Amino acid sequence: MRKNSKREVGYLSYEDFKKLPLKRFREIAFHGWGEPLLHPDVFKMVSYANSLGIKTSLITNGVLLDKRVDEIFNSNLNSIAFGIFTLKGKQRVIENVQMFIEEKEKRKSKIETFVDITIFKDNLNEVEEIVKLCKEIGVDGVVLHRLFNLHNPSLNTLSKTEEKELFAKLKDIKGIKVYFPPKKHSIPCVVAKNCIYITWDCKQSPCCFLCEMGYVLGDAFSGDIFERHLRFLKEMNENEICRRCFW
Ligand code: SF4
Repeated sequence: MRKNSKREVGYLSYEDFKKLPLKRFREIAFHGWGEPLLHPDVFKMVSYANSLGIKTSLITNGVLLDKRVDEIFNSNLNSIAFGIFTLKGKQRVIENVQMFIEEKEKRKSKIETFVDITIFKDNLNEVEEIVKLCKEIGVDGVVLHRLFNLHNPSLNTLSKTEEKELFAKLKDIKGIKVYFPPKKHSIPCVVAKNCIYITWDCKQSPCCFLCEMGYVLGDAFSGDIFERHLRFLKEMNENEICRRCFW
Protein backbone atom coordinates (compact mmCIF):
# COMPACT_ATOMS: atom_id res chain seq x y z
CA MET A 1 0.00 0.00 0.00
CA ARG A 2 2.86 2.34 0.87
CA LYS A 3 3.88 2.39 -2.80
CA ASN A 4 0.45 3.73 -3.75
CA SER A 5 0.58 6.53 -1.22
CA LYS A 6 0.59 10.07 -2.53
CA ARG A 7 1.23 11.57 0.91
CA GLU A 8 4.26 13.81 1.29
CA VAL A 9 7.03 12.22 3.37
CA GLY A 10 8.92 14.09 6.10
CA TYR A 11 10.27 14.11 9.64
CA LEU A 12 8.45 15.45 12.68
CA SER A 13 10.78 17.97 14.33
CA TYR A 14 11.83 17.52 17.95
CA GLU A 15 10.56 21.03 18.73
CA ASP A 16 7.12 20.32 17.27
CA PHE A 17 7.00 16.98 19.09
CA LYS A 18 7.57 18.70 22.45
CA LYS A 19 4.78 21.21 21.69
CA LEU A 20 2.16 18.43 21.26
CA PRO A 21 -0.16 17.82 24.26
CA LEU A 22 1.88 14.73 25.19
CA LYS A 23 0.93 14.69 28.87
CA ARG A 24 -2.68 13.92 27.99
CA PHE A 25 -1.66 10.51 26.59
CA ARG A 26 -0.82 7.24 28.34
CA GLU A 27 1.42 6.08 25.51
CA ILE A 28 3.20 7.53 22.49
CA ALA A 29 3.61 5.08 19.59
CA PHE A 30 6.21 6.13 17.01
CA HIS A 31 4.90 4.58 13.81
CA GLY A 32 2.15 4.80 11.20
CA TRP A 33 3.23 4.14 7.61
CA GLY A 34 6.76 5.35 8.21
CA GLU A 35 10.04 3.83 9.38
CA PRO A 36 10.88 5.35 12.79
CA LEU A 37 14.51 4.18 12.78
CA LEU A 38 15.17 6.52 9.84
CA HIS A 39 14.36 9.50 12.04
CA PRO A 40 17.55 11.07 13.46
CA ASP A 41 15.81 12.35 16.63
CA VAL A 42 13.37 9.56 17.36
CA PHE A 43 15.17 8.41 20.52
CA LYS A 44 15.48 11.97 21.81
CA MET A 45 11.67 12.01 21.58
CA VAL A 46 11.38 8.62 23.29
CA SER A 47 13.59 9.82 26.17
CA TYR A 48 11.61 13.05 26.43
CA ALA A 49 8.28 11.15 26.60
CA ASN A 50 9.77 8.83 29.22
CA SER A 51 10.87 11.82 31.28
CA LEU A 52 7.19 12.84 31.41
CA GLY A 53 6.22 9.35 32.63
CA ILE A 54 4.57 8.35 29.33
CA LYS A 55 4.95 4.82 27.91
CA THR A 56 6.63 4.53 24.51
CA SER A 57 6.57 2.01 21.69
CA LEU A 58 7.48 1.72 18.04
CA ILE A 59 7.14 -0.60 15.07
CA THR A 60 10.12 -1.01 12.74
CA ASN A 61 10.99 -3.09 9.70
CA GLY A 62 14.21 -3.98 11.57
CA VAL A 63 16.60 -3.08 8.75
CA LEU A 64 18.44 -0.39 10.76
CA LEU A 65 18.19 -2.14 14.11
CA ASP A 66 21.90 -2.93 14.38
CA LYS A 67 22.80 0.71 13.67
CA ARG A 68 20.63 2.09 16.50
CA VAL A 69 20.73 -0.64 19.12
CA ASP A 70 22.52 1.43 21.80
CA GLU A 71 20.14 4.36 21.35
CA ILE A 72 17.14 2.05 21.72
CA PHE A 73 18.32 0.63 25.04
CA ASN A 74 19.61 3.98 26.34
CA SER A 75 16.28 5.67 25.59
CA ASN A 76 14.39 3.14 27.78
CA LEU A 77 11.82 2.50 25.05
CA ASN A 78 9.09 0.33 26.63
CA SER A 79 8.21 -1.90 23.70
CA ILE A 80 9.35 -2.59 20.16
CA ALA A 81 7.63 -4.54 17.39
CA PHE A 82 9.28 -5.84 14.25
CA GLY A 83 7.06 -5.83 11.18
CA ILE A 84 7.77 -9.13 9.41
CA PHE A 85 5.18 -10.55 7.02
CA THR A 86 7.49 -12.94 5.14
CA LEU A 87 10.80 -14.69 5.71
CA LYS A 88 11.76 -14.45 2.04
CA GLY A 89 14.73 -12.10 1.64
CA LYS A 90 14.60 -11.18 5.35
CA GLN A 91 17.80 -12.90 6.54
CA ARG A 92 19.37 -9.63 7.68
CA VAL A 93 16.22 -8.59 9.56
CA ILE A 94 15.97 -11.97 11.32
CA GLU A 95 19.65 -11.76 12.33
CA ASN A 96 19.03 -8.24 13.62
CA VAL A 97 16.06 -9.40 15.72
CA GLN A 98 18.13 -12.30 17.11
CA MET A 99 20.95 -9.91 17.98
CA PHE A 100 18.46 -7.55 19.64
CA ILE A 101 16.99 -10.29 21.85
CA GLU A 102 20.51 -11.37 22.89
CA GLU A 103 21.37 -7.75 23.73
CA LYS A 104 18.16 -7.48 25.73
CA GLU A 105 19.27 -10.47 27.83
CA LYS A 106 22.82 -9.18 28.25
CA ARG A 107 21.68 -5.72 29.29
CA LYS A 108 18.90 -7.13 31.52
CA SER A 109 16.51 -4.78 29.76
CA LYS A 110 12.76 -4.93 30.42
CA ILE A 111 11.82 -3.85 26.90
CA GLU A 112 8.94 -5.90 25.49
CA THR A 113 9.49 -7.40 22.05
CA PHE A 114 6.85 -8.32 19.47
CA VAL A 115 6.65 -9.38 15.88
CA ASP A 116 3.83 -7.74 13.98
CA ILE A 117 2.49 -9.84 11.07
CA THR A 118 0.04 -8.60 8.46
CA ILE A 119 -1.86 -11.67 7.29
CA PHE A 120 -3.04 -12.03 3.69
CA LYS A 121 -3.21 -14.68 0.97
CA ASP A 122 0.40 -14.32 -0.17
CA ASN A 123 1.88 -15.21 3.23
CA LEU A 124 -0.82 -17.62 4.46
CA ASN A 125 1.56 -20.59 4.27
CA GLU A 126 4.37 -18.74 6.02
CA VAL A 127 2.64 -17.36 9.12
CA GLU A 128 2.96 -20.55 11.18
CA GLU A 129 6.68 -20.76 10.38
CA ILE A 130 7.19 -17.10 11.35
CA VAL A 131 5.42 -17.63 14.70
CA LYS A 132 7.53 -20.74 15.44
CA LEU A 133 10.69 -18.83 14.58
CA CYS A 134 9.65 -15.99 16.93
CA LYS A 135 9.22 -18.52 19.72
CA GLU A 136 12.66 -20.00 19.00
CA ILE A 137 14.34 -16.58 18.99
CA GLY A 138 12.64 -15.60 22.27
CA VAL A 139 10.32 -12.80 21.12
CA ASP A 140 7.68 -12.01 23.81
CA GLY A 141 4.65 -12.10 21.51
CA VAL A 142 3.25 -12.02 17.98
CA VAL A 143 0.55 -9.55 16.92
CA LEU A 144 -1.57 -10.42 13.87
CA HIS A 145 -3.23 -7.79 11.68
CA ARG A 146 -5.54 -8.23 8.73
CA LEU A 147 -4.58 -6.60 5.47
CA PHE A 148 -6.90 -3.67 4.83
CA ASN A 149 -5.83 -2.54 1.39
CA LEU A 150 -7.49 0.82 0.83
CA HIS A 151 -6.36 1.04 -2.74
CA ASN A 152 -7.73 -2.35 -3.72
CA PRO A 153 -9.94 -3.63 -0.87
CA SER A 154 -10.66 -7.11 -2.25
CA LEU A 155 -7.03 -7.85 -3.06
CA ASN A 156 -5.43 -10.77 -1.27
CA THR A 157 -7.43 -10.75 1.96
CA LEU A 158 -8.07 -14.08 3.69
CA SER A 159 -11.49 -15.70 3.58
CA LYS A 160 -13.23 -16.43 6.91
CA THR A 161 -12.42 -20.16 6.49
CA GLU A 162 -8.74 -19.51 5.78
CA GLU A 163 -8.54 -17.26 8.85
CA LYS A 164 -10.25 -19.85 11.03
CA GLU A 165 -7.93 -22.65 9.93
CA LEU A 166 -4.86 -20.47 10.36
CA PHE A 167 -5.85 -19.28 13.85
CA ALA A 168 -6.58 -22.88 14.95
CA LYS A 169 -3.04 -23.93 13.92
CA LEU A 170 -1.49 -20.96 15.70
CA LYS A 171 -3.43 -21.62 18.90
CA ASP A 172 -1.69 -25.02 19.04
CA ILE A 173 1.74 -23.38 19.27
CA LYS A 174 2.59 -23.20 22.97
CA GLY A 175 5.22 -21.02 24.62
CA ILE A 176 4.55 -17.75 22.80
CA LYS A 177 1.66 -15.33 23.16
CA VAL A 178 -0.24 -14.70 19.90
CA TYR A 179 -2.60 -11.71 19.71
CA PHE A 180 -5.36 -12.27 17.15
CA PRO A 181 -7.31 -9.47 15.44
CA PRO A 182 -10.83 -8.86 16.83
CA LYS A 183 -13.39 -11.45 15.66
CA LYS A 184 -15.80 -8.74 14.64
CA HIS A 185 -15.08 -5.22 13.52
CA SER A 186 -16.97 -2.76 15.71
CA ILE A 187 -17.66 0.95 15.49
CA PRO A 188 -16.06 2.76 17.24
CA CYS A 189 -13.15 0.46 16.42
CA VAL A 190 -10.41 -0.31 18.96
CA VAL A 191 -7.99 1.91 17.05
CA ALA A 192 -10.15 5.02 17.15
CA LYS A 193 -11.25 4.33 20.74
CA ASN A 194 -7.64 4.26 21.92
CA CYS A 195 -5.58 6.41 19.60
CA ILE A 196 -5.21 9.77 17.97
CA TYR A 197 -3.02 9.82 14.86
CA ILE A 198 -0.66 12.78 14.38
CA THR A 199 1.35 13.06 11.18
CA TRP A 200 4.95 14.29 10.84
CA ASP A 201 3.61 17.73 9.82
CA CYS A 202 1.31 17.82 12.86
CA LYS A 203 -2.03 17.14 11.24
CA GLN A 204 -4.60 15.19 13.25
CA SER A 205 -6.45 12.23 11.77
CA PRO A 206 -8.40 9.36 13.41
CA CYS A 207 -6.06 6.66 12.03
CA CYS A 208 -3.43 5.96 9.37
CA PHE A 209 -5.99 4.61 6.87
CA LEU A 210 -8.21 7.68 7.00
CA CYS A 211 -5.19 9.93 6.91
CA GLU A 212 -4.08 8.13 3.76
CA MET A 213 -7.39 9.04 2.15
CA GLY A 214 -6.88 12.71 3.03
CA TYR A 215 -9.18 12.65 6.08
CA VAL A 216 -7.69 15.33 8.36
CA LEU A 217 -9.57 16.56 11.45
CA GLY A 218 -7.42 19.64 11.98
CA ASP A 219 -4.08 21.06 12.96
CA ALA A 220 -2.65 19.46 16.12
CA PHE A 221 -1.69 22.90 17.49
CA SER A 222 -5.04 24.61 17.12
CA GLY A 223 -8.22 23.83 19.06
CA ASP A 224 -8.68 20.74 21.23
CA ILE A 225 -7.61 17.53 19.52
CA PHE A 226 -9.67 15.44 22.00
CA GLU A 227 -12.89 17.33 21.32
CA ARG A 228 -12.40 16.86 17.58
CA HIS A 229 -11.64 13.17 18.06
CA LEU A 230 -14.76 12.62 20.21
CA ARG A 231 -16.87 14.32 17.55
CA PHE A 232 -15.41 11.94 14.98
CA LEU A 233 -16.21 8.89 17.19
CA LYS A 234 -19.84 9.98 17.36
CA GLU A 235 -20.06 10.30 13.59
CA MET A 236 -17.82 7.47 12.42
CA ASN A 237 -20.74 5.20 11.63
CA GLU A 238 -21.40 7.47 8.65
CA ASN A 239 -17.82 7.22 7.39
CA GLU A 240 -17.58 5.20 4.18
CA ILE A 241 -14.05 3.89 4.88
CA CYS A 242 -14.82 2.93 8.49
CA ARG A 243 -17.91 1.05 7.35
CA ARG A 244 -15.91 -1.22 5.07
CA CYS A 245 -12.85 -1.45 7.36
CA PHE A 246 -12.19 -4.88 8.91
CA TRP A 247 -8.75 -4.18 10.33
S1 SF4 B 1 -10.63 3.28 9.04
FE1 SF4 B 1 -12.11 3.74 10.66
S2 SF4 B 1 -12.73 1.75 11.44
FE2 SF4 B 1 -10.80 1.44 10.30
S3 SF4 B 1 -9.16 1.61 11.82
FE3 SF4 B 1 -9.48 3.63 10.95
S4 SF4 B 1 -10.93 4.65 12.35
FE4 SF4 B 1 -11.04 2.45 12.72
